[in-house]
Amino acid sequence: MMVVNKSKRFEPNITWNRNAVWLIMNGIHPGESEGIDASILYLTALAKNPKLIPDSVTILLIPAYNIDGLRNRKEFTRANQNGPVEKGFRASACNYDLNRDFLKADTKNTLAFYQIFQKWQPDVFLDTHTSNGADYQYTMTLITTQKQKLGGPAADFLYNEMNPAIYKDMQKKGFEMCPYVNVFGQSPDQEGYEVFIESPKFSTGYAALFGTLAFVAETHMLKPYPDRVKATYLLLESFQNYCQTHKQDLVRTKELQQIWMLKQTSYPTNYKVSREANKTIQFKGYELEKRNSTLGNYERNFYNKNKPFTRAIPYYDSCYATLTQKIPNYFILPQSWSKVKERLKANHVQAIELLRDTSILVTAQYISTIKNGQNPYEGHFVHSGISCINKQMPITFYAGDWMIPTQQNGIRYIQEVLGAESWDGFMAWNFFDPILNEKEGFSDYAFEEDAQLLLANSAELRTKFEDWKTQNPEKAKSKFEVLGYLYKNSPYYEKEHLRFPVYSVD
Ligand SMILES: [Zn+2]
Repeated sequence: MMVVNKSKRFEPNITWNRNAVWLIMNGIHPGESEGIDASILYLTALAKNPKLIPDSVTILLIPAYNIDGLRNRKEFTRANQNGPVEKGFRASACNYDLNRDFLKADTKNTLAFYQIFQKWQPDVFLDTHTSNGADYQYTMTLITTQKQKLGGPAADFLYNEMNPAIYKDMQKKGFEMCPYVNVFGQSPDQEGYEVFIESPKFSTGYAALFGTLAFVAETHMLKPYPDRVKATYLLLESFQNYCQTHKQDLVRTKELQQIWMLKQTSYPTNYKVSREANKTIQFKGYELEKRNSTLGNYERNFYNKNKPFTRAIPYYDSCYATLTQKIPNYFILPQSWSKVKERLKANHVQAIELLRDTSILVTAQYISTIKNGQNPYEGHFVHSGISCINKQMPITFYAGDWMIPTQQNGIRYIQEVLGAESWDGFMAWNFFDPILNEKEGFSDYAFEEDAQLLLANSAELRTKFEDWKTQNPEKAKSKFEVLGYLYKNSPYYEKEHLRFPVYSVD
């Protein structure tokens, strides 16, 4: 990473008059190299003429994030993209798409990113990419971290002030932008299009958890490469000028956002796009025509560049949370889940280690529904549809286990990764899979007598059992069903089965 600071302060400054901190990340997808080239030109210009270096902004530049992919250069990658001749490959050496790794952190790249991000706590973050969706007139499109998901004073500032200013500035320079066109296989003007929800597994989604104003620049792959580099260069300039002139607003917004996050009693997540609220944008597209394919018996899509249009289309930019988690005072994480601990530590999460073995009354969560991932995705078989039943119970913890107060800077990160039902949580990403199957069982020939004894000793169990048999006459014919039912309702049945191993305490 390169640090540009006019006063030669190359370490973070946390005093009241600190600079605005702006982090640029290029080449997470190295074939999308405009940001790499634009940054070389941009920093060369600053180096040649130091008067241009802003005095209120510290610029952090990751010149090329995915080094493995950058070195794996080839002509035949990124089909359709209009230059450069050789392009880096999308994945890392272990074939990860690094821009899905920001929470599961399978790669050293992500752990290195945490070091940079947590040390500097940037106010503004820009990740540079190239887009391959539908075709349209814009060279540059922009993902602005989604408003409802970010929430708080940061979302207000971002959407009322900074985002419109960046759009205006780019338009003045002859590179009018539109929001990232998240459309595949059809034309954006057919039904309009939806905002892209960059959940926390993406770079900007991760940054937003810490109140950073985050953007993804997406140039269009069919525009000439020099134009794409130029548009990215001009966007860097727009960001620099904005950060320079609004340093105080940015610093203050970050502070207000942190205060706001700590005041919340619940954490909304698992966002979906709302099809109700939408706004209209004047979209500059190309007419989509249907032509007979010469390859097969079907109609192909063809964007006619001789028929540009400007048309009012709906843009669905609002989202709603499908899950709202109550924020406890503390989470307790047994130290044995070391992979989870490593990731929390790397994100500067503060924890108190228990000094002695202790029994604590906690809220535990039992997984009641879960859809196990059937297809591999980025090194995991991601679970979905997780829901839980809460139970109060005393649990014995050991000296060294972690009490994690939620009143800290990483509150939203903590809630996302330690939320059992979060789509991007550690449960979904397979970190807790060993809880999903039973480790012990019974021997049918021996458990008959034990089951009789259990029934003899509990009137409550007898009633429950009789009800169960009435409701399940077929099951009552199977020894494994009957014994299984009684086993699961006995003290022998392990409490650890399906119990999410992170507990909350108020
Ligand atoms: Zn990309």
